[in-house]
Amino acid sequence: MKTITVMLAGGRGERMGGSMNKVLIPLSGKTVLRRSVEAFRGLTDEMIVVARQSDMDAIRREAESADRDFPLIFASGGFSRQQSVLNGLRAASAGPEDCLLIHDAARCLVSPAVIRRVLDAVKGCGTGVPSVPVTSTCKLRDENGYVLHTLDRNAMAEIQTPQGFRADLLKKAFRRAEKDGFEATDDAGLLEHAGTPVLLVEGDRRNIKLTSPEDLPLALMYLKEEEPVMRIGMGYDVHRWEAGRKLFLCGVEIPWERGLLGHSDADAPLHALMDAMLGGCALGDIGRHFPDTDPELEGVSSLLLLRKTNELIHQQGYSVCNADITIVAQRPKIAPYIPAMNRCVAETLGLPADRVNVKATTTEKLGFEGREEGLSAYAVCTLEKTRIQI
Ligand code: MG
Repeated sequence: MKTITVMLAGGRGERMGGSMNKVLIPLSGKTVLRRSVEAFRGLTDEMIVVARQSDMDAIRREAESADRDFPLIFASGGFSRQQSVLNGLRAASAGPEDCLLIHDAARCLVSPAVIRRVLDAVKGCGTGVPSVPVTSTCKLRDENGYVLHTLDRNAMAEIQTPQGFRADLLKKAFRRAEKDGFEATDDAGLLEHAGTPVLLVEGDRRNIKLTSPEDLPLALMYLKEEEPVMRIGMGYDVHRWEAGRKLFLCGVEIPWERGLLGHSDADAPLHALMDAMLGGCALGDIGRHFPDTDPELEGVSSLLLLRKTNELIHQQGYSVCNADITIVAQRPKIAPYIPAMNRCVAETLGLPADRVNVKATTTEKLGFEGREEGLSAYAVCTLEKTRIQI
């Protein structure tokens, strides 16, 4: 039995208050769509992503960048949800016994446990639909806003996705709906219409559908609980001494007979610090973000790059908790400049002064630093998850 997932990514963002497709909204460093695709890692053999033609390029880029172990197929959305699912099914190569999962890409917090429960139910009885108990009192109303009567919430279930069906049952339900001109708001509704029993399995309260802007902070709170609260990064950098260049260390100009050779201002301790920040967030290194082949960066102040690096890690949902930097050089004497360096780094990162520590050492004339061929710098920093970051 093969599992094929139809990922519905055709939603508009109207209720999100924008014109952008809501599945393209970034949520703590990754778009909603990418998170939804990655949720099925290890749980599906193939995925059909259904999107509107106008969004297709962006949707394709995002889905393809996801960390996954299954191939992707893309299909155009229809005028209704039902039509979109049908287009997805037509693009799938499902045999009658295969399992089809239909998922709303806006439910990017779906857990592997929920998907597994759905798959087990499909294996056992042909259908599986996740649900959670209804906790609010629900009333039926008339078109003037008057209550007709109160519903028994204990007999009700709130439905989520992915909804799972054996392919032959879902296809039969679609044929029946087409014949009767029947439209349902979910796929289980089509099976109900066709008289096929639908089994509910346990869903998850966190498996929310991102619909309005208020859902975003809630989703971020759930994500924050899953992701590490603290990360550590380290960085190392070396630059060669060169006569006639200005010397900048941690953003402070130091009067000295030589400077450091480099494409930017060659501020090695700041480069080490940026590498530590990027490393802690799994964002690679400064060479990737600020290549030394970029003519715009020639002679640029590394403080500017540090500010940009700080923005990058904020976008990733992290901020620097503390930073510890060691400068290794035989000469010049660095101690007199250390308070200014601490201040400069802390201010650039928007941190209190006591969160940054710069120190310096010689190597007792050993190695390239001791022979005064170059200067090296080490940096370690801790990063903490930012409270709410969109
Ligand atoms: Mg460097």
